[in-house]
Amino acid sequence: MGRGKTTLVRCNACGRSVSRGKAVVDLRSVVYSTDLRTADDLRYMEKRKVYYCVSCGKSLGVYERKKKQNEIYRERKNNMQTGAGGTGGFGGAGGSFGGTGGNSGGSEKF
Ligand SMILES: [Zn+2]
Repeated sequence: MGRGKTTLVRCNACGRSVSRGKAVVDLRSVVYSTDLRTADDLRYMEKRKVYYCVSCGKSLGVYERKKKQNEIYRERKNNMQTGAGGTGGFGGAGGSFGGTGGNSGGSEKF
């Protein structure tokens, strides 16, 4: 009961209150539109931060997506550093993704 200064956020999926340290943050693009389909149609898009609790983050696959994005980002960075040559070190990492590893594997072969 000692710590009173935890910021609570609301899970976007189930509405439960989660402390921000534990919540999963996702970026989502939201489109506002007047739906007029004329020249006066106004469209406004913004990236909004969305929070999920741990269980919803898991069941919605937010963790997986983040992991994948991280992996892709790291791979790209590494490819830039090592050039087109040495890709041997990535064999193991690619394999752990199983069926979806095809994407990253293909880009390595350049
Ligand atoms: Zn939730």
